[in-house]
Amino acid sequence: MLPKKHLSSAQKRKKRKQEDQFVESQRGALHKFFPVTNNVEISEDQGQEQVAEVDANEDDTEIANIDEQEDLVLAIFDPRTWGNLDNSRKDILIEKGPVREMDLQFPRDPSGRHFSYAYYSRKLSNGEFVDRKWLVYSKHVDKIYCFCCKLFKSNQNKSLLAYDGMRDWKHLSEKLKTHENSVKHLSNMSTWNEVRLRLSKNETIDDEMQREITKEKERWRQVLVRIVSIVKFLAKQNLAFRGSNEKVYECNNGNFLATVEMIAEFDPVMQEHIRHI
Ligand SMILES: [Zn+2]
Repeated sequence: MLPKKHLSSAQKRKKRKQEDQFVESQRGALHKFFPVTNNVEISEDQGQEQVAEVDANEDDTEIANIDEQEDLVLAIFDPRTWGNLDNSRKDILIEKGPVREMDLQFPRDPSGRHFSYAYYSRKLSNGEFVDRKWLVYSKHVDKIYCFCCKLFKSNQNKSLLAYDGMRDWKHLSEKLKTHENSVKHLSNMSTWNEVRLRLSKNETIDDEMQREITKEKERWRQVLVRIVSIVKFLAKQNLAFRGSNEKVYECNNGNFLATVEMIAEFDPVMQEHIRHI
């Protein structure tokens, strides 16, 4: 007998009913694979957003603080503040030298003239270009100054570059040439150089001092690690620390000093420490 190719209508109804029941039984079954409900997920997201917001606020405060510090540092480089700098700020300024801001748009005067970056270079008679390190432009007042003459000026120095700043763009080339060849300017340049050199030398001395201090701190830390270890050992074994003598490498100096001596037999840190004392 050949297998039946078609189902009877009763069988078809039964099969459809079974399929429907199966589909119904599987409703929501997918959620079993994701134990966290949607609601919880949403609230977690909100939580993360709140955390992110707090982070962002902290970042803002930090950025504001950094901005403030940068403003303070930048204020040192603004020629308008050079009249009343305290000594430490003046030292920083002298050591760092003037800061040159690039990509500035220089405003034009009524005759259409303006400052330009070309003035920062001086052409020597042999055709070589030299940087005018002393030349400072202030965008706040659209004026130029001489760094060293403004900082080290004497009472006889009446140059605008040393006082209120210059904005004579028409005669600037000649004015700069005259200024940089003047005795007062050259003397201030040499003062600037000397002070800067002295400051940078101080810095190296400080650096060395700092390195010495760090080295000494580390040495003491290492010694203390050993002393604490000995104290722990003696206390644990219930042994007396002191003897009748309190000097290293002498008889009857007790368990503590004897252990120090024992460690020094193979430990360079302890050897060095005993040599010191
Ligand atoms: Zn000068």
